[in-house]
Amino acid sequence: AKSEGRGTWRFFEREMDAQMQARRRLELDLRRALAEQEFQLLFQPLVHVGSRRIIGFEALVRWHHPERGLISPAEFIPLAEETGLIMPLGEWVLHTACREAASWPEQVSVAVNVSAVQFRSPLLVDAVAAALRASGLPGSRLEIEVTESIMLQDNVATLAILHRLHGLGVRISMDDFGTGYSSLSYLRSFPFDKIKIDQSFVRDLDKQGDARAIVSAISGLGRSLGMSTTAEGVETQEQFEQLRADGCLEAQGYLFGRPMPARDASALLRHQRAV
Ligand code: C2E
Ligand code: CA
Ligand code: CA
Ligand code: CA
Repeated sequence: AKSEGRGTWRFFEREMDAQMQARRRLELDLRRALAEQEFQLLFQPLVHVGSRRIIGFEALVRWHHPERGLISPAEFIPLAEETGLIMPLGEWVLHTACREAASWPEQVSVAVNVSAVQFRSPLLVDAVAAALRASGLPGSRLEIEVTESIMLQDNVATLAILHRLHGLGVRISMDDFGTGYSSLSYLRSFPFDKIKIDQSFVRDLDKQGDARAIVSAISGLGRSLGMSTTAEGVETQEQFEQLRADGCLEAQGYLFGRPMPARDASALLRHQRAV
């Protein structure tokens, strides 16, 4: 039994080594990926619920790994955060998103995701200002999407950063609302312009249950607090009808378009203009 235990332990050690090596490898690859231009920014339409017209796009990053193929941001963003590479990657995302958006019609904005680690960096506000300056995009056409994780830190510092972003004319969205801790007091204490209702609620909209009550309550809350509401992950016409009935103002999801390369986003906007 004793030797068997030792064997099991060696097996775990080998597994751990393999996992750590794979991680270390990915980390080195990530460092190289920016220089090698392996990242791509896709754009997913956001539509006005009343008219179904495109009012903006959310920028979503992709990594085309030379050997492993497409790697999801859910996998490499946490790694980029741990290694500090999120800052140069985030700057690239900001610059690329603003440069694209500057070529769109005036009423169309772009939304960029900013992780908690990026948010806490003293470089963030300057990076946003630099991206706006370089692209010529007015701050009012940029939205920064943050999650509740930014509020688990120092609230005074968080508030100061949000105010500085507002000072640039940028709007701020609370992403994935309804997941995590979602304290309602956050909505009152922090100057958000928009609430993005998490797709887990939208997914269940056309089923019987509480999802509908939750979506309609969040939309009402947004309305009374002077914030816009966006439903994420809208895939079916039924979900869309429910959202409209529940007073949600904006929607995003495969029903209106998948994340797409910049040229397809531009083509979609040209088409929309023509009709
Ligand atoms: P998120 O900000 O909540 O983005 C929405 C995710 O839902 C995206 O996944 C999008 O492709 C997906 N989605 C959109 N519509 C639908 C739908 O109708 N059905 C379903 N099932 N999914 C839909 P994606 O692109 O894999 O991104 C995952 C997460 O990675 C994002 O979640 C965001 O937190 C993070 N992320 C993506 N790009 C960036 C970035 O440039 N910077 C940072 N910091 N994080 C990013
Ligand atoms: Ca987002
Ligand atoms: Ca989200
Ligand atoms: Ca998310």
